[in-house]
Amino acid sequence: MKIHEYQAAALFKAYGVRVPEGRAVAAPAEAEAAARALGDGPFVIKAQVHSGGRGKAGGVKFAQTPAEAARRAEEILGMTLVTKQTGPQGRVVCKALVSRAVQIAREYYLSLTVDGARERVVMIASSAGGMEIEETAREAPEKICTLEIDPYLGLTGYQAREMGGRLGLSRAEIQQFIPLCKNLYRLFVEKDCSLVEINPLVVDGAGDLVAADAKINFDDNALFRHPDIAELRDENEEEPRETEAAKYDLNYIGLDGDIGCMVNGAGLAMATMDIIQAFGGSPANFLDVGGSATAEKVAGAFSILLADRKVRCIFINIFGGIMRCDIIAEGVVAAARNLAVKAPLVVRLEGTNAEAGKRILSQSGLNIVAAADMADGAEKACRLAKEAGA
Ligand code: GDP
Ligand code: MN
Repeated sequence: MKIHEYQAAALFKAYGVRVPEGRAVAAPAEAEAAARALGDGPFVIKAQVHSGGRGKAGGVKFAQTPAEAARRAEEILGMTLVTKQTGPQGRVVCKALVSRAVQIAREYYLSLTVDGARERVVMIASSAGGMEIEETAREAPEKICTLEIDPYLGLTGYQAREMGGRLGLSRAEIQQFIPLCKNLYRLFVEKDCSLVEINPLVVDGAGDLVAADAKINFDDNALFRHPDIAELRDENEEEPRETEAAKYDLNYIGLDGDIGCMVNGAGLAMATMDIIQAFGGSPANFLDVGGSATAEKVAGAFSILLADRKVRCIFINIFGGIMRCDIIAEGVVAAARNLAVKAPLVVRLEGTNAEAGKRILSQSGLNIVAAADMADGAEKACRLAKEAGA
């Protein structure tokens, strides 16, 4: 789960990480009042969307006075911000953060994330702050410093000190850098984060280290033990298909293709996407209906697939183990009738009660194409999607 910069900044503050004073606002008049309350300018007004690259896209503006802060907020609020990360459709900005602008002497990059290959939390830092880290990795990889954190020892003072040295920080700056790193690591572990990122981490006019941007992602599987964090969720920022799927307890990830997939089991669901690609098609989603899909779940899954206008064909790929194929078939028929499914359905059923399931489907009178096996199903789904698109 992602949160907004202003929410992440509040967590930083709670963990002793210095952030500029600021307030989230939803209207220009609020921006003016916020700036007035903050005191002397200049101010920075930032679009609050779950995406980086806001600066380049026009989502970060400066103001000298509270009145100007209101005008800048008026430009930002309601705009559709298109960044490298939002896709061409962009995001509508509903909130802005008004802060006292930090005076930037130097900019750094600092983050913590989980490195799956190393099986460790890693800290990544760079003297090329403000840049996108992917760009730095491509063009100047020598400017990126990485350190592995031992889960038993945690982030040690000497590791942070060494990192500070590699970044070229002064002795006084390193004295601030060490507790900053330790605080960030404590936040990362205690809140079950998957990413904590400060870009840029700024050395300001007074020589202090300040987080001028704040980004935190959380491990969804650990949210159950952080009700305070779960409350920060902003459904406006999430893929609506995924929000809907969560209601039915379905494991769904929206993709860009035109073949809707309904599969039981995550492994089979991934294999299904692969085999569709292998036959030249493109999946519209990943969807695992789970090992114990009920008729309601199947109906919910259908409604999500159908709400996706890109879907031209639906491929149902079920291996009945604990779940019986006849139950699935009844669920498919009932849902397809209720929801008046028009897209062709390619169905592959295998496993427990497969024959009974196939009979139910063939007698339903629905536009169902039976598949002999998974490859046959994928091939047919790809062909039908192509024909529907032609
Ligand atoms: P992002 O583009 O979404 O990562 O948004 P940021 O919050 O990082 O802002 C983009 C850029 O605006 C930063 O890299 C800074 O160069 C600049 N910026 C952001 N906040 C401040 C600030 O308080 N003072 C100054 N001088 N520049 C800022
Ligand atoms: Mn940034």
